[in-house]
Amino acid sequence: MIDCLLLGTGGMMPLPNRWLSSLLIRCQSEMTLFDCGEGTQVPMRHLGWGFKRLSSIVLSHLHADHVMGLTGVLFSVGNAGRTEPLTIYGPPGTMVVAQALTVVVPGLPFEVLVHEIEADERLRLPAEIDLSVGQADHRDHCFFYRVDRSREPRFDAERARAAGLPVQLWSRLQRGESVEWDGRRFDGTEFQGPERRGVSLGFVTDTRPVPEMPALLQRVDLLVCEGTYGDDADREKAIQKTHMTFREAATIARESDAGALWLTHFSPAMDDPDAFVDKARDVFPRTTIGYSGLQTTIAFEDERIHP
Ligand SMILES: [Zn+2]
Ligand SMILES: [Zn+2]
Repeated sequence: MIDCLLLGTGGMMPLPNRWLSSLLIRCQSEMTLFDCGEGTQVPMRHLGWGFKRLSSIVLSHLHADHVMGLTGVLFSVGNAGRTEPLTIYGPPGTMVVAQALTVVVPGLPFEVLVHEIEADERLRLPAEIDLSVGQADHRDHCFFYRVDRSREPRFDAERARAAGLPVQLWSRLQRGESVEWDGRRFDGTEFQGPERRGVSLGFVTDTRPVPEMPALLQRVDLLVCEGTYGDDADREKAIQKTHMTFREAATIARESDAGALWLTHFSPAMDDPDAFVDKARDVFPRTTIGYSGLQTTIAFEDERIHP
């Protein structure tokens, strides 16, 4: 399962009642932060998931409202006593930005690694999280992401029992490994049942809609997507500034057959994003206007309390 927590929902600059757009996810206690604008450490502290287990920071692009909080977050991670390395992933140029923003926090008790990624790359993060990368359409180099946590196939316990294999070996077999027992070799794949669906989410900001999005984001359980402008009348502005309206974001959710949509990255000029929710729900009814503290757990299908 993956826990998801929206820390902030603002674009351009933090406002007194709106932190900058960023998303925290947690899987097996390992945390990954998506984007890190100025002040991100404040909602992160307020919402209480802690800092020490933050092992990855993934940046969509290098505009100030998505990176300027790195200094504070890294300082807080160090203050929480982390000693294991932390990796920052982002587009080309991330190394320079990370170096610049860490000059003022010398002596961090952990190593900061930087991985500059390329479009269409697929990466493995801690807790067996797979990250797929798509090319966004923004003024500067920007990526959108799909996160997957796959699931092992169901284990055929009957078969293992019939073969006389002790329970202690079952978890290795379930992972598809081979084991030796009683002078014989058993191949784990023979004990795997049908495939099981994993859990997934998409993180999309800042960008115009891109034709490749629905393919990469197909059937994500949750899509966190920018909706810089709520009003359809602002579509021209959205095109000019390479952002999206609520309706455009909802169209991506619909075409991707997403489970749910959370809107984020609201223009500072939009005081009340809720006033425009119908523009999105017209197209995609399972839309929620994001806010700092909005959270959910994406559970594996057969572990869901509600279908
Ligand atoms: Zn932005
Ligand atoms: Zn931007």
